[in-house]
Amino acid sequence: MPDILDEILANNERFLQQTRLPHIGHAPRKHTAIVTCMDCRLVNMFEPALGLERGDVLELRTAGATISTLERPQAANDLIRSLAGGIYLLGVRNVLVVGHTECGLAHVNPTALTASMQALGVDPQKLIEQANLGDMNGLLRWIGAFNDVHINVQEVVNVIRNSPYLPRIPVHGLVIDINSGQLTLVERDPKSAA
Ligand SMILES: [Zn+2]
Repeated sequence: MPDILDEILANNERFLQQTRLPHIGHAPRKHTAIVTCMDCRLVNMFEPALGLERGDVLELRTAGATISTLERPQAANDLIRSLAGGIYLLGVRNVLVVGHTECGLAHVNPTALTASMQALGVDPQKLIEQANLGDMNGLLRWIGAFNDVHINVQEVVNVIRNSPYLPRIPVHGLVIDINSGQLTLVERDPKSAA
């Protein structure tokens, strides 16, 4: 197997020979930020499924499209910070939170998680103590595990809407089918109809 870095550098050389990108500005044309998951199956699928082109929207991808529960009281985490940058500096006026089916952060098996950590030399129990996570559930909350993608999307929507760092702009919630690309509406922000 070729080294991933070498492979990517070679791909990049080929890309530069074949492609001339048009110069466009950094403010998203559709004045929209989309929060979604880091899932690799969204690559090359997500934007076409939503009809989005380069320069249209800001895309913020986190594990599970979640905001870690432990950070919610402050709602000052990196996702909120990124949205603030998008809103205050880049003209974002709408936010979409898009979870997806078959997410790796749904139904996380605690035993598999701790076994994986241990195999990589990280002691889960020590981490729980050092980081004041409380117990196994705290560890699961920290990593952003959830049970129901619709409920998770709704929670993230609510956290963004209620963040004191952000103005009250329309925040919609959706779920995308990872296999077909079909969108399902979880909640249309009533504020957007005004
Ligand atoms: Zn996911």
